[in-house]
Amino acid sequence: QAKREGRGCFRRFTAALDEQIQRSRRLEADLRECIATASGLEVYYQPLFATAGETLAGMEALARWHHPEFGLLQPADFIPVAEESGLIVPLGKWVLEQACTMMARWPDISLAVNFSPVQLREEALVHDVLEILVRSGLAPERLQLEVTEGAILDTDKAVRDRLTALRATGIKIVLDDFGTGYSSLTHLQKFDVDKVKIDKSFVHDISSDSESVAIVHAVTGLARVIGIPVTAEGVETAEQRNMLRAIGCTELQGFLFSRPLSPDDAARFLSGTTKWTNAA
Ligand code: C2E
Ligand code: MG
Ligand code: MG
Ligand code: MG
Repeated sequence: QAKREGRGCFRRFTAALDEQIQRSRRLEADLRECIATASGLEVYYQPLFATAGETLAGMEALARWHHPEFGLLQPADFIPVAEESGLIVPLGKWVLEQACTMMARWPDISLAVNFSPVQLREEALVHDVLEILVRSGLAPERLQLEVTEGAILDTDKAVRDRLTALRATGIKIVLDDFGTGYSSLTHLQKFDVDKVKIDKSFVHDISSDSESVAIVHAVTGLARVIGIPVTAEGVETAEQRNMLRAIGCTELQGFLFSRPLSPDDAARFLSGTTKWTNAA
């Protein structure tokens, strides 16, 4: 009896696994097609605000995919598939080109684009990024590449050399999701980064958990010593905003201020907010 149940359980398990593999294969094939035809993919933009005065400081590009059958997919649904298949390389270039072209129309504010470790391992990275900047007319100083610690901890020296080469052109390197993963304050000092973004998990817990408060304090304090700005992502409440402001975070981003905006909404937002301030 138990044996039969066990076998049934195993069958259900392999069936679920099978389904997952099938879905991944399907997503990969569909994504390949959508990249080739530039259809169904879109870049959303989420504003970042300078804490003092809450002035618009920049926009972060976030990929979206309108799948013909599954509907609107979020990065968590397709970025892993893109990374495993290598499709993240052409996808990343497409996102960068879209975002640079869009933001070149709006002077002054910065553009942040997320880069996966897989993209950083590409030999043509520096060449491709610079080519896209030239084509779109966006000044390198306005571009911020958001990378995670895992990416710059890469033992591959070539990756670090590529980041150095990008920085030499004026492009900024931002350490995203700081506090997760391997995280260590010493990484902030050891690697040349231009900005650090505190992961939203700490922001989420900041009003209830003293450990999160301590971490945000420590990161902000060290960043101040090194002389780089600190962004807090995932700010959802006025209480969180007030605490982060008091601690001294220099930039805030989150649903409290704005959700990621479609290209049309982002353009409306940029042309409508004459002083680019947000009173949230
Ligand atoms: P991330 O770069 O850390 O981006 C922040 C994520 O938090 C975004 O999710 C954003 O929509 C979400 N978010 C913003 N404000 C709030 C808030 O107040 N509360 C909560 N709960 N969430 C908030 P999204 O767009 O689903 O992107 C998830 C991740 O996927 C990104 O994390 C980034 O690592 C990756 N990603 C997105 N677009 C790209 C891309 O074009 N290329 C690469 N390589 N990765 C991307
Ligand atoms: Mg990011
Ligand atoms: Mg982040
Ligand atoms: Mg994050």
